[in-house]
Amino acid sequence: MPGAKWRPIPVNFTKGGQDDVRGVVVHIMDGSYAGTDSWFRDLKAKASAHFGTSRAGDLCQWVDTADRAWAQADGNRTWLSVENEGRGGDALTDDQLDRCAEVLAWTHKTYSVPLQVANGPSGRGLGYHAMGGSAWGGHTSCPGSHVVAQLAEIVRRARKLAGGTAPSDDDPSTYTPPKFPTGLAPNKAEPCARTLQRALKAAGYMPKGVKEADNYGPQTQAAVIKFHNAHPQYRAKGKPNDPAIGPKGWSALFRLAYDK
Ligand SMILES: [Zn+2]
Repeated sequence: MPGAKWRPIPVNFTKGGQDDVRGVVVHIMDGSYAGTDSWFRDLKAKASAHFGTSRAGDLCQWVDTADRAWAQADGNRTWLSVENEGRGGDALTDDQLDRCAEVLAWTHKTYSVPLQVANGPSGRGLGYHAMGGSAWGGHTSCPGSHVVAQLAEIVRRARKLAGGTAPSDDDPSTYTPPKFPTGLAPNKAEPCARTLQRALKAAGYMPKGVKEADNYGPQTQAAVIKFHNAHPQYRAKGKPNDPAIGPKGWSALFRLAYDK
C-alpha cells in the first residue's frame, strides 16, 4: 500500500493465500511497535498482520495483501489485518485513527470494501478481532471496548479520504441533524430518548438488541459515555465519563449515524 513503510517479514504468513478481502480487522498489539515488528520475524510467533501502526503515527506493512497474514484464525482467508501499538484497554491515538482510516480508504479503492463498520465475520467493512468469537481465536479483549468505540470515527475519516470514490448518495451537505430536544437528560423519561437511542445504535455505540424506551436509563448513559470517550471534545470539561449529551455532541452523533 502506498504510504506504508514496507517491512516485509520472511516467515509467519501464507504466500498467495488471501482468497478475498471483506474488510480490515483492527487489533491491539498489547505491546510495542518495535517489539511486534521483531516478534513477527520469529518463527515461534506463528502470528503476523498485514499492517501496523505506532502510537506516534507510523504505518508499516509486513505482509502483501495478496498473501494471508496470520492474525485472526478462520478470519485470515478473507480479512486483512492492522495491529496497533498499545496496551489492552487503551484507546487509539489521533494519529492511529488517521492511519487506520488510510488503510480502510485504500482497501475501499483497491478491493471495493464498503466504508462502514462491519456487522460481523460474514459482513464487510471495518471489523475488529473479538467480533469473530472462538472461530477467530477467542480474543475477547482485542482490541478492547475503547477501540471498538472508535471504529465509527475511523470510518468517518476514511469516507473523507475516499472523497470522489464514495457512493454518489454520500453527500454530507444534504444532511441536517435534528434539533437538540429540550428536556433530554440522564434518568429522565422523555420520548426523545428513543431518538437518541436509535442514533447511538446506528453509530455503533449501543448494541442493536437493546430495547428502546422513553427513559434515558443506564444503557443509554453507558452508550453516551462510549461516544464521549471516543470524541472527548463533546463531553463536559473535566468529566471523563460524561453520560449527558449536549447540543454539539448530539449533532456530531447524528452525522456519524446518518450522514452516509
Ligand atoms: Zn487481535
